[in-house]
Amino acid sequence: MASINELKERIHADSSVEIVTEYLEIIEKSKLNAFITVAKESALLRAKEIDSNGHEGPLAGIPIAIKDNISTKGIKTTCASKILTGYIPPYDAHVIEKLKNAGAIIIGKANMDEFAMGSSTETSFYGPTLNPWDTTRVPGGSSGGSAAAVAGSQAPLSLGSDTGGSVRCPASFCGVVGLKPTYGVISRYGLISYANSLEQIGPFATSVRDVTTLFDVIAGQDPRDSTSVNREANYSSALINDVKGLKIGVPEEYFGEGTDKNVDRSVRDAINTLEELGAASVEVKMPNTKYALSAYYVIAMSEASSNLARFDGMRYGLRTEDSDWHTTFSRVRAAGFGEEVKRRILLGTYALSAGYHDKYYLKALKIRTLIKQDFERAFKDVDVLIAPTMPYPAFKLGEKIDDPISLYLADVDTVPINLAGVPSISLPCGFSGRLPIGMQVIGKHFDEAAILRTAYTFEENTDFHTRQLEGY
Ligand code: GLN
Repeated sequence: MASINELKERIHADSSVEIVTEYLEIIEKSKLNAFITVAKESALLRAKEIDSNGHEGPLAGIPIAIKDNISTKGIKTTCASKILTGYIPPYDAHVIEKLKNAGAIIIGKANMDEFAMGSSTETSFYGPTLNPWDTTRVPGGSSGGSAAAVAGSQAPLSLGSDTGGSVRCPASFCGVVGLKPTYGVISRYGLISYANSLEQIGPFATSVRDVTTLFDVIAGQDPRDSTSVNREANYSSALINDVKGLKIGVPEEYFGEGTDKNVDRSVRDAINTLEELGAASVEVKMPNTKYALSAYYVIAMSEASSNLARFDGMRYGLRTEDSDWHTTFSRVRAAGFGEEVKRRILLGTYALSAGYHDKYYLKALKIRTLIKQDFERAFKDVDVLIAPTMPYPAFKLGEKIDDPISLYLADVDTVPINLAGVPSISLPCGFSGRLPIGMQVIGKHFDEAAILRTAYTFEENTDFHTRQLEGY
């Protein structure tokens, strides 16, 4: 698996067309179903342009896969839903504009759970993506296609979105690096909303350095997203191989019941490794963690029920031939949305309805504040927190899909981070048999520098991220 720098050298020596062609060939042969759309013609055309323009820009000629809920002008964007059949966005998301300016080449749109609802990429209308390490297992979700594409050498870089763990979960299950930045650091303009108070676009790559290079390209304020903030920074300058004096907090609540013993051991070993390199660790208490899942699902479903009202058979995608608005609306939605999406719209509408609003939605917002306070308290004493990303390695396809609650429980260690809006990076830290294990390094609001430095130092002093997949 080539790094950005290695690819740049090759692009310089050969051409971007050659590199893009190689990736396209791997995608074509693959059975992973990591892509919903492969943008073969536009990618090759762009590669040719970049070759003749002298390879300008930090990602000049480098292919990237984009989660299919990020709008790409002229390229089909489906959110892995039948309801968006035939929809081609007339504009680019902010991150896509930034990528194009940096010379990156969009090679295709990655598979995902329908409307980013799920943790396994099994709710996609286009069929599940398979985990490249074991094709009988899920790649994680909801950005499973983005993570599998990078792990399976189908793209060196990709973008996902993380509402409750959807970048970190598949990064962990597929043995790659994935970053969920602080809420507001990347513009959500052009990201098709699921639960907009929680979600951020996030980069995937095979190393912390490449994730950071991509992050540097896509971060930045945008007047079209009023929640985006002005924090222009050069994140790559935080990549220093040194953790001397760093204080790591270990939240025991994240190592709770249901955590696989190999996951527990690998993450604790990783903390020991960082201690040997000069960091110190202390236990921290995050007492409200146990309420996070319930609060997250009430808030996420409430926001989803409102956001998905725009899919009405009039404005985008799927249509029916009915004569009145009401019949069109209900028939399009009945036929166009999958089961999980319908379940969430119903539950979210219920949680927001008069009479239940205080009992569920407002209560969840209060818990959200308590969880934020847990983080604020912990960060008074420590610089970063380290915890498992997922309680276990990738599970089998079909194992949890018929039991929504057990699937929701998988998100126990990722959702508190979105509720608090803090940044977190998942990186490989061990194996359970041949399955990768991920840990997350969590930071204070806007302190991406601390988590990137910690993750980078760990990576520079271990070899988990370099273990190659057989056959790739
Ligand atoms: N699994 C979580 C959910 O289904 C998170 C999804 C996400 O981050 N998009 O809501």
